[in-house]
Amino acid sequence: MTNILVINAGSSSLKYQLIDIDTETVIAKGICERIGIPGSLLSYKPTNGEKFEKQQDMHDHKDAIQLVLDVLSDPKIGVISDMSSIAAVGHRVLHGGEKYSEPVLINDQVLEAIEECIPLGPLHNPANLMGIRGCMAVMPNVPMVAVFDTAWGQSMPKKAFMYALPYEAYEKFKVRRYGFHGTSHRYVAGRAISKLDMPKEQTRVITCHLGNGSSLSAVKGGKCVDTSMGLTPLEGVPMGTRCGSIDPAIMPFLMDKLGLSAAEMDTYMNKKSGMLGVSGISSDFRDLDAASKEGNERAELALQMFAYKVKQYIGAYAAALNGVDAIVFTAGVGENDRRMREMILTDMEYLGVDVDFQWNQECPRGEEVEISKPNSRVKVFVIPTDEEMTIARDTAALAL
Ligand code: AMP
Repeated sequence: MTNILVINAGSSSLKYQLIDIDTETVIAKGICERIGIPGSLLSYKPTNGEKFEKQQDMHDHKDAIQLVLDVLSDPKIGVISDMSSIAAVGHRVLHGGEKYSEPVLINDQVLEAIEECIPLGPLHNPANLMGIRGCMAVMPNVPMVAVFDTAWGQSMPKKAFMYALPYEAYEKFKVRRYGFHGTSHRYVAGRAISKLDMPKEQTRVITCHLGNGSSLSAVKGGKCVDTSMGLTPLEGVPMGTRCGSIDPAIMPFLMDKLGLSAAEMDTYMNKKSGMLGVSGISSDFRDLDAASKEGNERAELALQMFAYKVKQYIGAYAAALNGVDAIVFTAGVGENDRRMREMILTDMEYLGVDVDFQWNQECPRGEEVEISKPNSRVKVFVIPTDEEMTIARDTAALAL
């Protein structure tokens, strides 16, 4: 048994999974919430045991990690004897800028580089750093690996990642497309490629990570050549509460009309728009499906807009790839929302997509399934994403 601890630290939360990398099984997982806020809460679920919750103050991420280690090695409900049976820790890190196109073993230079990228990931990178530093304080001799969400997009050609702004925006301020959800796109693209009966170098895959946040990626020979999120996760298709791509001139126009500051406009586009903004009800696709069935027109409009934009990106990426061999659906909506998949995949005969819509409705959830008909030129897969396992594998490859 070789245990890898996978950490995904947010500003006041810390998700963790303990994975036995020899058998690739999750042994336990959970989350610390309200770190640094009164009423901190740890939840813990061993794969073969009962869920456990504990309210205990966690002043910072170091406290949280300590609590996670305590519960993992608890004589009654724990799954390991002590901390020494954790071989390595893998950290999800949002932004690695242009420096990292691969996961990396964490040392002082890497910590500095993550700090340097704070302007590009102002919400996540500081939290990721708190998670890493908290772990280092509690487990000083355990190797740690950073797996960057932006690393996947580093293989994009310049024509795909540049914005047509004055060149100084790129040179001075690093304004370019980075893309996000990289670990998910990489994992599902890899799974899809393994199902295609052709040499990897020739494969053309479009991955659709559709969840509360959504992005698509064009993948040639296993490498990302384009992706829909940009400098920030706001660009691309509309999302739960994000507007996705809009005419940039709308920003100054609405700032003027509504008297919004730049920060308020940012909140308007990131938190009040998307499915929530259009429907006026919810950012959750399940709520919108239910409301639409009851005749709510704006809920239905939000869903139609989402499907239309995803469809447009698939067309654009088929053009970028000079054809497509497989389309993959993943994440909360991609894996579960059968009607949304049908809306997106209807009228795609021009591309060689022939979906078995009956099977799309009936196929099992939580498994890798092919929903295209056997003769479809383009294979369509639903593949549950597994970012934690990917991080654990990356960590093992570098640290063990
Ligand atoms: P994620 O960000 O990947 O966790 O995805 C969250 C989104 O997936 C939410 O908007 C949910 O509404 C959506 N989702 C989860 N399960 C279902 C389902 N059974 N049907 C429709 N949408 C779902």
